[in-house]
Amino acid sequence: MPSVKPNSTISEYQDFVQQVYGLHNMRNYSVGNLLTNTQRFAMRGLKGIRKKDREKTKINLLLSLSWLMSIMNHLHIQIEDEIWSRFPYLCSYCSTCPCSCKEKKVKKRKSIPNNVKALKPATLSDFQKMFRRIYPPEERSLEHGGIHLAEELGEFSESVLTFRGQHKEEDFDKISKEAADLYSCLMGVFNSIEVDVSKELSTLFSNDCHVCKNAPCTCSFDFVAKFKF
Ligand SMILES: [Zn+2]
Ligand SMILES: [Zn+2]
Repeated sequence: MPSVKPNSTISEYQDFVQQVYGLHNMRNYSVGNLLTNTQRFAMRGLKGIRKKDREKTKINLLLSLSWLMSIMNHLHIQIEDEIWSRFPYLCSYCSTCPCSCKEKKVKKRKSIPNNVKALKPATLSDFQKMFRRIYPPEERSLEHGGIHLAEELGEFSESVLTFRGQHKEEDFDKISKEAADLYSCLMGVFNSIEVDVSKELSTLFSNDCHVCKNAPCTCSFDFVAKFKF
């Protein structure tokens, strides 16, 4: 039975999503459908922030993250590689750790140096710790983290739309970068509400689909569209 373990890597989690949801996604979902689900669960997560409901935020953002993995599988992007090349223990914008975008009022993206010495985090959990170091949650409010997440989801959506319109290689590369930025913002909110993502995923996905308990998942399109926490 496919499952996510507390020490799974990001790639193993992405593979789990493929094993359980890949078939259903390929048959029944367009990239647009997958994107809509990524967005709607993220927005429900933001509602949890407004309502000060940590559980609501937690479960909805875990689901949004899993839909993001479905998009990555659909487009054959290995998100772990993209995350590491964009955030090698450095902020992707100011190139420091912790991020100094605010103090230094960085207006233009600095390129990541070629001679990064830091070791790539091994597991999903190690990556979350890395994001806590780059973007300490104490430096901004949870609401601020939520707004940043919404912004990045908008940019990711734009990159998908642009690629679907033009089918250009450079637009495809933009999707990977925006997906990595979105991942970092999801981790930012999880760090703010002190959610251990790999532990929660291993509980939610202890075996097969978390709802129908099948692999491949047999939840119908219609059922998923109405599914909410
Ligand atoms: Zn920065
Ligand atoms: Zn299912």
